[in-house]
Amino acid sequence: MAFKNSALADIYARVEKRDPDQKEFLQAVREVLESIEPVIEKRPEFAKAGIVDRIVEPERMIVFRVSWVDDNGKVQVNRGFRVQFNSAIGPYKGGLRLHPSVNLSVIKFLGFEQIFKNSLTGLPMGGGKGGSDFDPKGKSDGEIMRFCQSFMTELSKHIGSCTDVPAGDIGVGGREIGFMFGQYKRLRNEFTGVLTGKGLTYGGSLIRTEATGYGLCYFTDEMLRANGKSFKDQTVVISGSGNVAIYAAQKATQLGGKVVAMSDSAGYIYDKNGINLDVIKDLKEVKRARLSEYVKSVPSAEYHEGKGVWSIPCHIALPCATQNELDENDAKMLVKNGCYAVAEGANMPSTPEACEYMIQNGVLFGPAKAANAGGVATSGLEMSQNSIRLSWTAEEVDEKLKGIMTNIYNSAYNASVEYGCPGNLIVGANIAGFTKVAEAMLAQGVAY
Ligand code: NDP
Repeated sequence: MAFKNSALADIYARVEKRDPDQKEFLQAVREVLESIEPVIEKRPEFAKAGIVDRIVEPERMIVFRVSWVDDNGKVQVNRGFRVQFNSAIGPYKGGLRLHPSVNLSVIKFLGFEQIFKNSLTGLPMGGGKGGSDFDPKGKSDGEIMRFCQSFMTELSKHIGSCTDVPAGDIGVGGREIGFMFGQYKRLRNEFTGVLTGKGLTYGGSLIRTEATGYGLCYFTDEMLRANGKSFKDQTVVISGSGNVAIYAAQKATQLGGKVVAMSDSAGYIYDKNGINLDVIKDLKEVKRARLSEYVKSVPSAEYHEGKGVWSIPCHIALPCATQNELDENDAKMLVKNGCYAVAEGANMPSTPEACEYMIQNGVLFGPAKAANAGGVATSGLEMSQNSIRLSWTAEEVDEKLKGIMTNIYNSAYNASVEYGCPGNLIVGANIAGFTKVAEAMLAQGVAY
């Protein structure tokens, strides 16, 4: 799609010229810039203050060496990143990803999207993201600990409970957050809410583990109900089998859906009777095993090597693995097989062509920035509890999470109506998220 607004076209061209190889980042920037065209036309003060030129450039990028010693006594070296993208509405906030595919483009795309997602939650959080190309797969607990300690030794110089509060993402769960929190405390002699996703014994929030998956289903439920539908008796396919996927599967089942397929990076399982989540949790959360092992416990299920989870017929699809995992061909297959709703648990899992195909074919589409914001929203609630030194009950947190997801749906929907594309939640979420940050940047002046 070409830009109609020449000022936005020029800004995109400059971003592309500056970082031509950062394809994930460029993809994320293009989507937002295309969406906000009508806002830029309506609010000339944003262009005058250079809001868009500034919002596409991170406030700060930290790239650092992470050296650690493996179990054989050999020194290993990885690259660490923290991109502090935008602090207009609060301290930088966003997860840490440990995966061999991590590079500056991936971290910048995630940090950029995080700005608008955090804004949509209604909580005071700016956008940031970080991580490393370290591969946690196959590493011992000792190796994970030594890596996390080394990573935090540098990161601790740049973060703080009022500056930048990282959390988990791919490859970073409770174990890794614990090691990083311990190291921060050792270095700074300060017990403070500097990370979220902490264990319940040292300042974590109830429901944080479940929050992204639960929030995704609350958002999807809202979108379905607004269109006279619900999860009840619907077939659901979910990609991934990590934190987001597991709790999306749990909530989708509680809301009456039947989850028949899940995947990991090696393959996917199909269980026509509905996935047994106890088996998945034991494999993934306890044994850290491959999904192929599922069929040993449930012999009636099928395991297939490779991609292909989107070939399983379903009514509702929830991509919860990684970026660009659902392309145009997958979208065509889903629509052909009767899928009418897709909501993104992962960040940017659908390619631009897939998004366009689904929207044009009437699929109810919940974009990541809105649909998976429940994780960071509950991290925001963890920060609040840390600040007041109190813990809320699971019911209290869950209730707040539900309320936030309903508000996000309404903000995105209302913005889509106000700007002339009713029901297009990609445009609606981008506009609603952007407008608040733009107003805050405008109020705070140019030089920072
Ligand atoms: P986990 O590490 O817990 O799980 C990731 C899952 O996705 C695993 O099943 C993994 O398979 C699969 N996966 C990862 N990379 C790839 C790849 N390149 N190709 C195919 N499959 C892959 O991560 P999360 O569940 O936390 O995160 C999943 C997605 O949700 C990410 O996009 C993340 O940014 C997003 N997200 C997470 C939030 C959170 O609170 N955790 C909040 C908001 C968004 P394997 O084990 O084989 O690698």
